[in-house]
Amino acid sequence: MAVRSERFRCIQVSKSNGESVRRALAEAGALQRDAVIQRDADHLYIPVRHKACIENSFPDLSAKVQHRVFERRIKLSFDDILGFTPSYEVIGDIAIIDADSSPDDKRIADTIILLHKNVRTVLAALTDVQGEFRTRDFRVISGKPNTETVHKEYGCRYEIDLARVYFTPRLATERKRISDQIHETDVVVDMFAGVGPFSILTAKSARQVIAIDKNPVAIKYLRRNAQLNTVNNMKIICGDVRDISKDLHYVADHIIMNLPHSAHKFLDVALTIVKPGGTIHYYDIRSEDDLFDGAQEIIEHAAEACGMTAHILDQRVIRSYSPHQSNVALDVTIC
Ligand code: SAM
Repeated sequence: MAVRSERFRCIQVSKSNGESVRRALAEAGALQRDAVIQRDADHLYIPVRHKACIENSFPDLSAKVQHRVFERRIKLSFDDILGFTPSYEVIGDIAIIDADSSPDDKRIADTIILLHKNVRTVLAALTDVQGEFRTRDFRVISGKPNTETVHKEYGCRYEIDLARVYFTPRLATERKRISDQIHETDVVVDMFAGVGPFSILTAKSARQVIAIDKNPVAIKYLRRNAQLNTVNNMKIICGDVRDISKDLHYVADHIIMNLPHSAHKFLDVALTIVKPGGTIHYYDIRSEDDLFDGAQEIIEHAAEACGMTAHILDQRVIRSYSPHQSNVALDVTIC
């Protein structure tokens, strides 16, 4: 919000009549709503829009019209301030922009804080998501020097430290789609649970969720998030899912494999966890010229190698990942 001084027509009314005149002007659409009404000891000065409207609808007030300078509160856009709209995403009270080390980064960050009343920190992402724990490096560009926040999604709250764990709000609709498939008798195994956005939402519908992650920091936040969302039917395990799976033979009605790029390396593990007739929710990053066929083949071969059969129930693009790559989801029943 910006404040500008501007000259408007206004109507001088006694304080005792002020509220009824203001209301009548507002109902007639004659009030200049974004200008701040002024007052002195005896009068209000109510800014109005059209001379003609006052003359037609309030002929007895037209004699009281005068001109004054008012403070006008104007809702500004990125275009007004920067001349363009930057791309950024908001997680909790933190906004993230892609850093290109241009001097514009600071201006963009300050403008995001100015225009978003809930954003307190702007971070520049210095790297892509990387390494086994799928984290990114950040630099604070503006606001509170902080990488920890609380993000709200579908009625759940997630505490996250963006510099130490993986999180993206861009899978919110996908998480809801999966949780809508879960029944109250189901056991769900979230093989790569992170801070728990799939685990916690599905736990609201499931009998039990077994949530596994190798990153101890993600597990620390996952435990907090289970408490924060009063989820009590979750078993949280820190470790490599390949080792943990030895105690989870054929327990899962649904398995969530949200480790795109590498999920294929863990299909043999998933196939020892899933119950016959259970469903694997498989995620991958695919190029636009082979969105599904290659992934289907990988899953079918893995199932065959274990003496099982894979039936593709559904396949869909859930978001774009890069100009020529997409994040895809395949729901697969294993028999
Ligand atoms: N499902 C979460 C979400 O949607 O926010 C996190 C997904 S993130 C892409 C993948 C997660 O898998 C990371 O938290 C990482 O630490 C974990 N991870 C990677 N390799 C693993 C392994 N071998 N066993 C268990 N967890 C692993």
